[in-house]
Formats: sequence, C-alpha cells, structure tokens
Amino acid sequence: PKPVVAVVGRPNVGKSTLVNRIAVTREAIVHESRGVTRDRSYHDADWNGRDFALIDTGGIESVKSTDIFAPHIREQALIACEEADVIVFVVDGSTGVTDEDEEVARIVRRQDKPVFLVVNKRDDPSTETDGLWDFYALGVGEPRPLSATHGHGTGDLLDEIVAAL
Ligand code: GDP
Ligand code: MG
Repeated sequence: PKPVVAVVGRPNVGKSTLVNRIAVTREAIVHESRGVTRDRSYHDADWNGRDFALIDTGGIESVKSTDIFAPHIREQALIACEEADVIVFVVDGSTGVTDEDEEVARIVRRQDKPVFLVVNKRDDPSTETDGLWDFYALGVGEPRPLSATHGHGTGDLLDEIVAAL
C-alpha cells in the first residue's frame, strides 16, 4: 500500500491550500465507513517518482464554533495521525501559536512518527523566519516556513517527506 501523509492543524491555517498544491487529484475521495470519518479527504500525490496518499482534515464540515472546535479537531487529527506514516502539522505563521494549535500538538506529540511542522503563510521570503522561535514551543521539532499560496518551501518539504517515507 501507498505510504500515507496526514495534514493536520486547526481550521484556516492553509491545510487544503497545501494539499491542493501537492496533490495530483484535487477531487476528494471521501471515506464514510464510520460516522466520525466523514471529515477527511484522501488525495494521490507523488514527488520525485515516489507515490503517496495525502489526507486532508477538516474540509467537509466547516467548523468555526469554538464550542465544538476542540473535540472535533481532536478526533479528526487523531484518526488521521493514526492512519499516517508521516504527519504534516500546519500552523498559521501570520498569527502565531494559539490554544487550538496546542491542542493539535498534544495529539501529534503522542504519535511515534516523523512530524514536519509547517509555518504557513510566510509569503515574503525576506521575513519568512521572523518569530519562528515561538513555534518551537509546540514541541514537535523545527518550524519550517512555507507559503502554500506562493509555493515556496513546498519543494524542500516534499524532499524531506519522501525521505521519511
Ligand atoms: P484550512 O482550513 O486549514 O484547510 O485552510 P485553507 O486552505 O482553506 O486556507 C484558509 C485561508 O488561508 C484561505 O483564505 C487561503 O487562501 C489562505 N491561505 C492558505 N495558505 C496561504 C498562504 O500561504 N499565504 C496566505 N497569505 N494565505 C494563505
Ligand atoms: Mg481545509
């Protein structure tokens, strides 16, 4: 079977933008075998001839309410992390660390798998490393500045992902 890369993070950090940039298939294949699985989509991807599957989380239901955010994101992130061989944890590099990021970080840290911490929305390469230190506090390793919309940083990330598969 193809190795699986899960993309997790709180809503609005740019997970789907990143997945759509990396994936070959924009069409989501939604698995609905259990009630709780409906909020993940699966995409085919390859890099340097290496095939893998990408799981995007949080894309089917739009959950913005803080009341239900925590249990929802926890559950989706947990399922995706359990299915994954490699985890890509996306945070918003234009805002800084939030409680919701900490919530996801707790799940990610419990997995004994390679984790890549993506600090997204670093659109300007000249300032992309500003304030990166704050993201070390998530305890999941080195923060990697990236811009999912502009594309810079994605090639380096993919090199490291496929090396870890
Ligand atoms: P998701 O909820 O984590 O899947 O986030 P989305 O991919 O839907 O993106 C949320 C918003 O952030 C959208 O308006 C995107 O256009 C925007 N966004 C995503 N990536 C970037 C980026 O690298 N730079 C900037 N400036 N905006 C981004
Ligand atoms: Mg999304």
